Amino acid sequence: PVPTAPVPPAPGNLSGVRHILLVLSGKGGVGKSTLCAQLALALRHEGKKVGVLDVDLCGPSVPRMLGAQGSAVHQCDSGWVPVYMDQEQSVALMSVGFLLEKPDEALVWRGPKKNALIQQFVSDVAWGELDFLVVDTPPGTSDEHLSVVEALRSHQPLGALLVTTPQAVAVGDVRRELTFCRKTGLRVVGVVENMSGFACPHCSECTNVFSTGGGEELARHAGVPFLGSVPLDPQLARSLEEGGDFMRDFPGSPAYPALAAIARKI
Ligand code: ADP
Repeated sequence: PVPTAPVPPAPGNLSGVRHILLVLSGKGGVGKSTLCAQLALALRHEGKKVGVLDVDLCGPSVPRMLGAQGSAVHQCDSGWVPVYMDQEQSVALMSVGFLLEKPDEALVWRGPKKNALIQQFVSDVAWGELDFLVVDTPPGTSDEHLSVVEALRSHQPLGALLVTTPQAVAVGDVRRELTFCRKTGLRVVGVVENMSGFACPHCSECTNVFSTGGGEELARHAGVPFLGSVPLDPQLARSLEEGGDFMRDFPGSPAYPALAAIARKI
């Protein structure tokens, strides 16, 4: 059984945050960080103020995906000032990537030190007023997940979005995430299937590279909402490599309507 830790007091620096969404996946490489970054952009395009907290301590990829790699975090009286993606300060980012001296450096830390950093991320970042805080987590269910859930437990509404690819093995891994959510009392906002078919940019025909429908079936079996499928999209892949604003730059590409629709359902 998952140990139940004492509930910490409501974190002051999160008092201006309306919704917190943890993004979870059973394993790496299914597009969890991609979903975090793109949902933040999609919510911003809906006029929302958004923060992204990257607690994927050993593989922080959100700074690069949002073009903020190399930025530095500063201190102010009320804590760490997040990095802002734009002048309007509509997307705020915090990641261990901003604390490393070199972007490719690895964080080689044992659990307790990682847990302490997660606690600090939760209590010491001056997020200000946000409609959504999207949290990128490491793959699987680890110590870091328990730390983040425990640190955020008193914040409501708090929910989890589960990302899977369509193949049965990835779907199986998400079942373990569902068990984690149940045991820790985390509300499941829904399941997203990523890399769900490839829409050819030349003829628009969709090829199901992997099997299809696994995410939807899983959601139905588990009795949780299915939020939608995001296709493999070369323009999205390029935008992620370049750290661009996909939701601004590629409104006609196949992944765009899927991401926009998911953001509206959250
Ligand atoms: P995770 O966070 O689950 O480890 P990432 O978000 O880092 O996975 O995605 C893994 C790789 O797949 C990245 O290089 C990303 O650019 C690419 N990718 C993810 N989703 C898509 C998609 N829908 N279309 C194209 N490329 C994608």
